[in-house]
Amino acid sequence: MSERKRILITGAAGFLGSHLCDRFIKEGYHVIAMDNLITGRLKNIEHLFKLENFEFYNHDVSKFIHVPGKLDFILHFASPASPIDYLKIPIQTLKVGSLGIHNCLGLAKAKNARVLIASTSEVYGDPTVHPQPEEYWGNVNPVGPRGVYDEAKRFQEAMTMAYHNFHGVETRIVRIFNTYGPRMRLNDGRVLPAFIGQALRGEDLTVFGDGSQTRSFCYVDDLVEGIFRLLHSDYVFPVNIGNPDEISIADFAEEIIKLTGTNQKVIYKDLPVDDPKQRRPNISKAKEILSWEPKVSRSEGLKITYNYFKSLSEKDLNEVDHYNFDKYIIR
Ligand code: UDP
Repeated sequence: MSERKRILITGAAGFLGSHLCDRFIKEGYHVIAMDNLITGRLKNIEHLFKLENFEFYNHDVSKFIHVPGKLDFILHFASPASPIDYLKIPIQTLKVGSLGIHNCLGLAKAKNARVLIASTSEVYGDPTVHPQPEEYWGNVNPVGPRGVYDEAKRFQEAMTMAYHNFHGVETRIVRIFNTYGPRMRLNDGRVLPAFIGQALRGEDLTVFGDGSQTRSFCYVDDLVEGIFRLLHSDYVFPVNIGNPDEISIADFAEEIIKLTGTNQKVIYKDLPVDDPKQRRPNISKAKEILSWEPKVSRSEGLKITYNYFKSLSEKDLNEVDHYNFDKYIIR
């Protein structure tokens, strides 16, 4: 048997990281999973612990990373990724996008590994170009509440290109648009778990603003396939991966009401500061370079996701915060 490829996945216990672990295990890789468990949860990857081609390090990637042995690939997915999370832990968000990527790139250079970094549609900010192509430079408020995430991700892209151009490190950049699926945290504040959690608990659904803002939701398996293809492509510039099927948040609330059969109604709350008014990926590049496009419709993906949330225990459903932020706020 040929030697297994070895891949380091940071943020491995998070929603996306854990699905990536599953995929690379399935493909026969040796997966080195890393997470400091601030927003990730071991529950997402505990089924992998028994495998001999899986190992886990409880480590903060903002600090020096040591991985023994050879490494072929690094996926940098460590970061808080929901508005609530990065408002609660803004300094860690900035650190993992800056110090964290610096450590990953340094490790990649030392090991001669290829790095793929998780960037985001947030680099486009509140976009004035719609749908958003990769060539659009964005409309970001650096000093607003989202600035800590948006600017960290923009810095991360710049640092990645610098390591590619200056040190010749093999790099890939994926710009991820809103993604959903099993293992999202019910309490992370993102719209899909918020609405489904509210429906399951018998609460009204909270639409922020008038609900006319739009998002385009991609099912996690489609995203993972796009990332897998990008990692193995030879394209170094950013590629959007997302589902262009756009919907207003008000209509999305109605879809969730229908899906869950809840008797609850929609209530309206203030729109958060700098909440993007519209978001939809232009995926021409992914289609052309990766022959990729999403396959899972929103109705299919939502059914799977709803069944996952329904299977959670009462305790999980009512959990407010599973982690102690106070402990992690930088002094
Ligand atoms: N949103 C909402 N109700 C909620 C949570 C979110 O109406 O309970 C809105 C939010 O204001 C935004 C959209 O849903 O316009 C998507 O929010 P999310 O936090 O999921 O991610 P974003 O795309 O803004 O990063």
